Amino acid sequence: MFSLENIVRKNIWNLTPYSSARDEFKGSADVFLDANENPYGTLNRYPDPHQKKIKKKLSEIKKVTQDQIFVGNGSDEVIDLAFRIFCEPGKDKALTFSPTYGMYDVSAAINNVELIKQPLINDFQINLNQLQPYLDDPAVKMIFVCSPNNPTANTFNIADVVYILENFHGIVIIDEAYIDFSEQESFITKINNYKNLIVSQTFSKAWGLAGVRVGAAYANKEIITLYNSVKPPYNVSQLNQEAVLKSLNNLEVFNENVAAILKERESLKQKLASLKIVNKIYPSDANFLLVEVSNANETYQYLIDEKVIIRNRNKLVNNCIRITVGTSEENEKLIESLASM
Ligand SMILES: *Cc1c(COP(=O)(O)O)cnc(C)c1O
Repeated sequence: MFSLENIVRKNIWNLTPYSSARDEFKGSADVFLDANENPYGTLNRYPDPHQKKIKKKLSEIKKVTQDQIFVGNGSDEVIDLAFRIFCEPGKDKALTFSPTYGMYDVSAAINNVELIKQPLINDFQINLNQLQPYLDDPAVKMIFVCSPNNPTANTFNIADVVYILENFHGIVIIDEAYIDFSEQESFITKINNYKNLIVSQTFSKAWGLAGVRVGAAYANKEIITLYNSVKPPYNVSQLNQEAVLKSLNNLEVFNENVAAILKERESLKQKLASLKIVNKIYPSDANFLLVEVSNANETYQYLIDEKVIIRNRNKLVNNCIRITVGTSEENEKLIESLASM
């Protein structure tokens, strides 16, 4: 029932992508006078538009082929390009589950696409019954599934996500920004099974490279080809590519950091649980905790005065704050402040 050509905007399907100097000549040579670059300096050359070194490394780590990987300027680019590839402005719609990550909303608004927000139920799971009518609605082109979800911290039931993949006529984007902190397996292993699946990941969280701005999307090569033809030719800078490669060549640091954050998450949870103002700590598959307190606005304000900044999520989940897991010193400072509130 899924047909990529039916989902992609006509102008994108028919697009002739920009052909860079590095696309037209790929071999090695002694003299490059083809890209109007400055001959002097160290960052004078355009970066690899296809990020081949990063893709080679990622293909080994994620066990996919290089043509199943798109590398972008943060996951924000993965999200924005999805709107531009699949949704006709002023006409098509996308759907997400609320509360969730705010960028889907902003990106939808920028692209003049209506975003349907379906409330999560029963400790933040998907309500398949309510979703049913949208699965065949031809105006709904994409469903965003943020799992683990921000700010609720939980992963969605795998069977529900699989049901959506198998029954939705459009594109399913699973945002796995926090997957490395979860025990659930990544949906990347399923990109060969589902033609309509895009898995989005980022170097901003578990990889510790939020300052670098690199994200990746994993999907069938037909979808990745569309992404590559719509992206700006040199969307990831030389410096950013080097920073990511350095991290990818040092998996030990990645594994150590993730383990340390998971350990801190458990210890922070225990300490928070013993505080009087804490009513509930939601289970977390991410590097943050969603915590219900007696009064979120007051707690937020009080912590600012203590020079500790958390995220007030009161408007999304009543009296809830979102706390990122920090170093043991940072977490200790937070607990001390809260204990004397
Ligand atoms: C933090 C976060 C991202 C990361 O975005 P980048 O642009 O890659 O930094 C993506 N999705 C969600 C849900 C997030 O919370």
